[in-house]
Amino acid sequence: MHLARFPRIALGHFPTPLEKMPRLSAALGGPTLYIKRDDCTGLATGGNKTRKLEFLVADAIKQGADMLITQGATQSNHVRQTAAAAILVGMKCRALLERRVTTMPASYESTGNVLLDDILDCPYEFRPGGVDMNKEGMALTEKLRAAGGKPYFIPGGGSNPIGALGYASCVQELTYQADQQNLRIHRIVHATGSAGTQAGLVAGLHALNAPIEVIGVSVRAKRETQIDNVHRLAAQTSELLGARGDLPRNLIQVIDDHVGAGYGQASEDGIAAIRMLARTESILLDPVYSAKGMAGLIAMVRAGKFKKDENIVFLHTGGASALYAYESLLAAPRQKDGGTAAAAR
Ligand SMILES: *Cc1c(COP(=O)(O)O)cnc(C)c1O
Repeated sequence: MHLARFPRIALGHFPTPLEKMPRLSAALGGPTLYIKRDDCTGLATGGNKTRKLEFLVADAIKQGADMLITQGATQSNHVRQTAAAAILVGMKCRALLERRVTTMPASYESTGNVLLDDILDCPYEFRPGGVDMNKEGMALTEKLRAAGGKPYFIPGGGSNPIGALGYASCVQELTYQADQQNLRIHRIVHATGSAGTQAGLVAGLHALNAPIEVIGVSVRAKRETQIDNVHRLAAQTSELLGARGDLPRNLIQVIDDHVGAGYGQASEDGIAAIRMLARTESILLDPVYSAKGMAGLIAMVRAGKFKKDENIVFLHTGGASALYAYESLLAAPRQKDGGTAAAAR
């Protein structure tokens, strides 16, 4: 693995911190929990898409593009980080937003990440839930190309082998930090959606021959489907990295019991995880992804899935900018005077 072979531009603050979570570990009474702060990559509030975009945007530049086209759900962190990346390289950005969530107040389509898309000057168009968004995005890209533009299409979540290189790179950063801290990591737990993060992690660990287990907590797909998606992309990424040997399917571990009512719908255990992490470590999660990842970690610790002497790293993939779009589900009950009561929490 020699990542400097691939074009890359700097978009974020790296390395992100690797820190112990002493209060959460004590509250749960299981293994020692650490956190890799990829919510702190800095790119217009940051998140896991920043690492992928360092490779994707460099590829766009190499291909002579002057515009980035991408797609995501309404509250997409990926779209917001792509809009931010475009500014830094002097490109335009256009996005398609899928209405996957239909149960939220109207402000869902104007606050949180959507507001940041506005501020970052990224025009977006909505599409109904359930359409093939990558197909829509490619159609828009072709239309712009036919009109004489130089658009570069980035798939949803930046999840293709080039984007996944970002998480192979994260593996190098993380194992270096762990070596410096004399910390043996047994497992990494994180939220998995479009599969690029987990695929990059697994391909990177495989290339480094590092025996660290990765557990993806699905935010959308059923376990078998998500394992297929991650494995396919991990195998392609491994090939791009030039790693020796096939990437075994049994390296892909996924749990799917924390999706709740569906993608983008806040779950009860996710909301409990948001409150628990905020009130033990002052770290903010988001309802769509990282809260479900953390709910998975908390449930596995409580179920005794890990030994007490293990060190588990939660990869915080970001997303807290979406919190404001979920105000109706997260706000404390109001008193008559507008304040909130301690007893009501
Ligand atoms: C995109 C995203 C994920 C999921 O990462 P994938 O690479 O799409 O699997 C997790 N957390 C947050 C906050 C995200 O924005």
